[in-house]
Amino acid sequence: MTGGLGEIWFVGAGPGAVDLITVRGRELITRAGAILYAGSLVNPDHLAFAPPGCVVADSSAMTLEAMIAWLLEQAQRCEIVVRLQTGDPSLYGALAEMVRPLRLAGATVSVVPGVPSFAAAAAAAVETLTLPETTQTVILTRVEGRTPVPEGERLRDLAAHGASLCLYLSITLWPTIRRELAAAGWPDDAPAVVVYKASWPGEERILRGSLAEMPELCRQAGATGQGMILLGPALGACRGVGTPRSRLYDPDFGHGFRKA
Ligand code: SAH
Repeated sequence: MTGGLGEIWFVGAGPGAVDLITVRGRELITRAGAILYAGSLVNPDHLAFAPPGCVVADSSAMTLEAMIAWLLEQAQRCEIVVRLQTGDPSLYGALAEMVRPLRLAGATVSVVPGVPSFAAAAAAAVETLTLPETTQTVILTRVEGRTPVPEGERLRDLAAHGASLCLYLSITLWPTIRRELAAAGWPDDAPAVVVYKASWPGEERILRGSLAEMPELCRQAGATGQGMILLGPALGACRGVGTPRSRLYDPDFGHGFRKA
């Protein structure tokens, strides 16, 4: 323990399935003296790997101040304190507002990355987000709900690139999404994929349809919470849409690991 305080680890739990956490993350759980987990999103089955006597709390009803106080209190008595978050901690995880006060209080903070839900959604649907000569860019964003989105990051501006779009926290905001995409010139019959609860055993749902169909498909599936929206010209490539040929594996294309 440095300065009498244990280390506080922000661990990405991955999208849901308990075997989609990193080996490092799992190992920290097995050694943790205390775990604060985001109960609204993290699969509680991860907690079965905590050692006997580990103190566990659900943060879903706590304020930021209560979470900071809890983590610091636990760090005074144990060497490893884990803050278990969904997906990867660098994405929509309120990381800065937690790490700053912890560091100010003298705690050592480290982060273990996790499988982000956009990647889990693409995997579940067997979709690639980059496709040669179609798009080489992926935009991770959200539309404005209760949290504002900075000027210059409006969906209509981002969608104008024609790149792959992964929309977090937006599954109930279809009117905004369709309005913004229309303003960027996207037709209402453009394809969309929604993956609800990607990787959660027995709960994952994959919905495919046009932008126009999606609100009703989501409603019918009860997909109102943990859903990822995938959009863009690469969708469907693994199902035979477009020409998926990468130069990386082209016989005429030499590189560091293979002669042309
Ligand atoms: N840090 C997380 C995101 C947290 S914000 C990450 O890296 O993925 C919560 C949002 O993430 C949800 O609104 C949803 O859009 C998305 N999400 C989280 N888990 C998901 C899952 N299993 N399937 C689909 N989307 C998910």
